[in-house]
Amino acid sequence: MEKRENGNRVVILGGGVAGSLVAKSLQFDAHVTLIDPKEYFEIPWANLRAMVEPTFAERTLINHRDYLTNGDIVTSSVVNVTETEVLTADGCQIAYDYLVIATGHADPVPKTRSERLDQYKAENQKIKSANSILIVGGGPTGVELAGEIAVDFPEKKITLVHKGSRLLEFIGAKAADKTLNWLESRNVEVKLEQSVDLNSVTDGYYQTSHGETIDADCHFLCIGKPLASGWLRETVLKNDMDSQGRIKVDELLRVKGRSNIFAIGDITDIPEIKQGFLAQKHAEVVVKNLKVIMEGGRECRLVTYKPLSSVLAIVSLGRKDAVAQFPFLTISGRIPGFIKSGDLFVGKTRKQMGLTS
Ligand SMILES: Cc1cc2nc3c(=O)[nH]c(=O)nc-3n(C[C@H](O)[C@H](O)[C@H](O)COP(=O)(O)OP(=O)(O)OC[C@H]3O[C@@H](n4cnc5c(N)ncnc54)[C@H](O)[C@@H]3O)c2cc1C
Repeated sequence: MEKRENGNRVVILGGGVAGSLVAKSLQFDAHVTLIDPKEYFEIPWANLRAMVEPTFAERTLINHRDYLTNGDIVTSSVVNVTETEVLTADGCQIAYDYLVIATGHADPVPKTRSERLDQYKAENQKIKSANSILIVGGGPTGVELAGEIAVDFPEKKITLVHKGSRLLEFIGAKAADKTLNWLESRNVEVKLEQSVDLNSVTDGYYQTSHGETIDADCHFLCIGKPLASGWLRETVLKNDMDSQGRIKVDELLRVKGRSNIFAIGDITDIPEIKQGFLAQKHAEVVVKNLKVIMEGGRECRLVTYKPLSSVLAIVSLGRKDAVAQFPFLTISGRIPGFIKSGDLFVGKTRKQMGLTS
């Protein structure tokens, strides 16, 4: 198997769920460089709790340096990649022997951890000072935000507008029904098959596509974010993406047809729903494979990734309840809530990142 002449320079693009785990796991086996536009890793599935309780974010925002003690950190966005190096927005050229692309979804957030903490305080203030709140989007983000606000601020009037015919379209209809019942039992008004024109807001009145008027003091936009793969379009990897901008990977999670470039997480074309726990599994596979390759190990020692064939997801509904979709079972209430909704897997994720508390 091909072992690079120069050695073991591993450059990781994106310090999110997948990229940060690869960086942490390889730091004593390779010369690791992590490139991310922000100085910290954020646990994404905890960020809606941080909006109702800003101090919660103290444990969910982890400076890259706290888990990556033996590697280089470049705080910038990648804008180009060649066969041998990457270029960042602030002009750094960084050579690699192995590249791991994990840029996930585009989500412009502040550069520093303290700015991000301030942003949560501001969002919390926005919730606190509103009597009525409009949430646009009934996917997991919109549903979890509605749940958090409904539980912590039961006096607020919440309206959730979703353009689909049911909530949570990424999981089963039964889970969607249970979620709708839970939200309605907490006085959240859910409007399906409608959209809101956010440009037509006047004096707190929002118009829906059905001609309805919603009176709200503020709104939160909770719709899907675009993939952060646009920067690849003019690069040597431009033909390695599918029509949706996802990077095509083989079963070893290498970019198809390339021996030293890997892609993991939401940015890949792996046929499964995009979930953080799966992005972590991708990271584990690539870490194992890179260790074998860098040691000059035999091809047969490489591990393959098997996409998850069924849906597995837990959507939290406030601090104690949740709805869970398992392969042959959908449950809601305190049992799935016990699994996820208390600390939202923050302790588990911190432990995985090598943090002791
Ligand atoms: C609100 C919310 C709740 C969720 N709940 C769950 C859940 O309960 N369970 C679950 O399993 N999953 C959940 N997910 C999904 C999960 O968070 C994603 O699947 C996961 O984050 C994907 O990991 P990733 O590393 O591919 O991308 P990301 O975590 O999105 O990380 C991408 C990283 O790339 C960086 N980046 C972007 N562009 C560039 C560039 N040009 N150069 C350098 N760096 C760049 C970004 O700054 C970011 O750090 C949730 C997501 C959200 C938003």
